[in-house]
Amino acid sequence: MTFKASVLTLYPEMFPGALGLSLAGRALEAGTWSLEAVQIRDFATDKHRTVDDTPAGGGAGMVMRADVLARAIDHASPPGDARPRLLMSPRGKPLTQARVRELAAGPGAVILCGRFEGVDQRLIEARGLEEVSIGDFILSGGEPAALVLLDAVVRLLPGVMGNAVSGEEESFENGLLEHPHYTRPQEFEGHAIPEVLTSGNHARIAKWRRSESERLTAERRPDLLAALPDLPRK
Ligand code: SAH
Repeated sequence: MTFKASVLTLYPEMFPGALGLSLAGRALEAGTWSLEAVQIRDFATDKHRTVDDTPAGGGAGMVMRADVLARAIDHASPPGDARPRLLMSPRGKPLTQARVRELAAGPGAVILCGRFEGVDQRLIEARGLEEVSIGDFILSGGEPAALVLLDAVVRLLPGVMGNAVSGEEESFENGLLEHPHYTRPQEFEGHAIPEVLTSGNHARIAKWRRSESERLTAERRPDLLAALPDLPRK
């Protein structure tokens, strides 16, 4: 089953962009997933092909029009399309690895990229858009956020990652940040690789990695530790 992404944007040239290279690019060529970039402006009806207008109630900036966006969505995702419809938005629920996994297990996604101040609220409600944020900061448009989301999803599609095991050991997959990594040279600027990692004792190594994971998570992301149902103990 091919994962089908439809991205609605004023800048279709931004796609596949970074996703045309490396793992995601090879998977795109192999047909593991497909990407359609839809130009929202094609669904404007006036001679200037207007997609935005001034905010009701006044204030700075412009708002994307509900009618134009509705036509674009209905074209890319007709009724009966089982794919979730996402709106990249700083007001959305923060994207998590758990949501990424769910999306990767589904048929695809229809992704609307906002520009200007955002989109008319009636469109969000009328088309049942799920607002998704990639973090507490403001981008100039939803396109980089859509690329981020798709990158995270595509690497989980069957056959995309060479080493399937590494996906399961990643940060967040067990609710913790990942342990630190080391490789040759054995000594770098006077610093040796931690002795345990060169001991060949796999039980000791696993225990060290686990405790480093817990230490880093407590230090940097106490919120993740608090969210764990019960910290699994060895
Ligand atoms: N006025 C809005 C920000 C608009 S930024 C506000 O204050 O909430 C323009 C567009 O960029 C948004 O419509 C959205 O599609 C995208 N965008 C900006 N920041 C984002 C983020 N953190 N996550 C996802 N999309 C974002």
